[in-house]
Amino acid sequence: MNIVRFAPSPTGRIHIGNARAALLNWLFALKTGGQFILRYDDTDTARSTQEFADGIATDVAWLGIKPHRIEWQSKRFDRYDTVADDLRARGFLYPCYETADELDRRRKRQQARGLPPVYDRAALKLTKEETEAFLAEGRKPHWRFKLKHEDVTWDDMIRGPVHINSSTLSDPVLIREDGTYLYTLPSVIDDIDFNITHVIRGEDHVVNTAVQIEISEAISGASPIYAHYSLLTGADGKGLSKRLGSLSIQQFRDSGLEAMAVVSHASLLGTSDNIHPCTDIQELVDGFDLGKLSRTPARFDEAELAALNAKLLHMTPWDAVKDRVAGGSEAFWLAVRGNIEKLSETKAWADIVTNRIKGVVADEDKSFINTAREVLPPEPWDGNTWKAWTDAVKAATDRKGKTLFMPLRLALTGLDHGPELAVLLPLTGRERVLERLA
Ligand code: GLU
Repeated sequence: MNIVRFAPSPTGRIHIGNARAALLNWLFALKTGGQFILRYDDTDTARSTQEFADGIATDVAWLGIKPHRIEWQSKRFDRYDTVADDLRARGFLYPCYETADELDRRRKRQQARGLPPVYDRAALKLTKEETEAFLAEGRKPHWRFKLKHEDVTWDDMIRGPVHINSSTLSDPVLIREDGTYLYTLPSVIDDIDFNITHVIRGEDHVVNTAVQIEISEAISGASPIYAHYSLLTGADGKGLSKRLGSLSIQQFRDSGLEAMAVVSHASLLGTSDNIHPCTDIQELVDGFDLGKLSRTPARFDEAELAALNAKLLHMTPWDAVKDRVAGGSEAFWLAVRGNIEKLSETKAWADIVTNRIKGVVADEDKSFINTAREVLPPEPWDGNTWKAWTDAVKAATDRKGKTLFMPLRLALTGLDHGPELAVLLPLTGRERVLERLA
């Protein structure tokens, strides 16, 4: 069985980029009858909070994702320690004593000589005396993983065959001098222990993958299958990373967007499918294929998301919204859904048909409106009442076209645009219409 994971760090809320990671993994699990694990990458215990983790759970649920399992890295430090000890014993992890400043100066010297800023493994050449001197100074080691300096290759489900020679990379620091873990090693251990079959993540992790494949081989000999999708840019083509904070799922929800609009947009962005509104996740599952993801960056434009939200509402059936449309009815919903961009706008239309709002009557239309009032048909009203009424008004005033209809619309709704009056009229009712024409 396929098992995938979405692995956010609970050091903030999730944004559109994370939502995409979550959804692509979720759709893959649904499509293949697999499982989805929500894994909190919370090894950074200083910055991770329960509040963010709860917020992420809320966001994930709002997107319609139901994890089969939830895991916390912070509960697994004993396991990581055991593996790290084993890697040390087998010579894969070696202690280094350089300070950040020293490393920085060394990198600058390399760059000045035109060399790539790759860690030179000086720590591997330390004598016993030098090591003892560092320890006597009070330095504590950080631990690097000794890469094999070989070609690492994998068949990426999106990018095709990838080759990275690990001699072009610095041996990665896996454990800091205070003993805390960077993301790299715990992630590999979890992927092995939880039998992750596929890692679907952004292309910013491609180099990590080369490193993690080597680590994985050192621990268990096997690696999951990888798929790296290209990252999002803004509408201007520039990277989104700086703006991601303001593109949180929480904000989308609070601004009144529909979950399925966000889900449709995030799932179809950067694929060969047109971005279109889906009211049901099954439609996205049916069309899902990692091979459809493009290798070029996808543009995320909030205006497009807003437009997609409107399109989605225009086709949403009453049953799907009835719990969220206050005081509405199916007839009301069908009348107004084509005129709104967000569901919250139904409130203003509900006020128009149910409350005693004030219509707008221009001075030059006063006698026209008076006449219209006099020929208003008696109830019961239905879908034909508007036609019957406006025919009568036309005969009594010889106005037609816009000069006939616009003053009536303004008088009845206070607005110069909106749903078909033929539908709004019976919803509003004769008593309210008479008041507005008075
Ligand atoms: N916590 C990592 C991140 O958010 C997870 C990356 C991964 O999928 O391995 O970037």
